[in-house]
Amino acid sequence: MLKKLENTWLADFFSLIFPNYCLGCEAPLTKGEKQLCTRCLYDLPQTNYHLHKDNVLSQRFWGRVPIEYAFAYLKFSKGGKVQKILHELKYDHNQTIGEMVGNWYGQLLIDAALAKLDGKQEQIFDLILPVPLHKAKLRSRGYNQSDCFARGLSAITDIPWYANVLRRNKATKTQTKKGRIDRWKNVDNIFEVLRPELVKGQHVLLVDDVVTTGATLEACANSLLKVGTAKVSVATIAVAL
Ligand SMILES: [Zn+2]
Repeated sequence: MLKKLENTWLADFFSLIFPNYCLGCEAPLTKGEKQLCTRCLYDLPQTNYHLHKDNVLSQRFWGRVPIEYAFAYLKFSKGGKVQKILHELKYDHNQTIGEMVGNWYGQLLIDAALAKLDGKQEQIFDLILPVPLHKAKLRSRGYNQSDCFARGLSAITDIPWYANVLRRNKATKTQTKKGRIDRWKNVDNIFEVLRPELVKGQHVLLVDDVVTTGATLEACANSLLKVGTAKVSVATIAVAL
């Protein structure tokens, strides 16, 4: 007991000398706040797509691949807080922010009855699969940013997640200068399902950091459906509108 008190006291003491700062506004974080201050967390530009099945992200997949639900937590805008969060996660080795975003979004999914905490009740999604990085990219970054988001979602919702079910066989080149058809060709058949027995007959929640054209998620979903996955839904941290 005494040790615990000491630890709390020490933690408070150190946070006075070396405070953590909010990623959004750089204000010192207070006790209980992680990564973002309460105000920045409250001000995040949420899409609320999880409350509307036929949202604009779902519509992006219509006529391309059957996606059961398509969600994105936040709206991406250049120079905004969401860009800062994604930059921290991808380029500043801040894996914790990815997990926190997963926690926050997982709680919203639970509140909307799209995920459940009690293991005895039926979950809508059977498992979470992050979109994998190509092994060369994984080596250079050291981690897959989508794994962080998956880990955070899973911790809150109790839906299991797996890092090694999907494999990315080709590194995708930058897609910005290509037309829609070329972009599609560029990602077609690049994903392989390494453990089809895990996804057969299941409802998979495929997760990624950001969705733009949806071509990557489409290719991933197609690989899953080809090996007998019952349903595929997608959830991303952010959507570029
Ligand atoms: Zn802040």
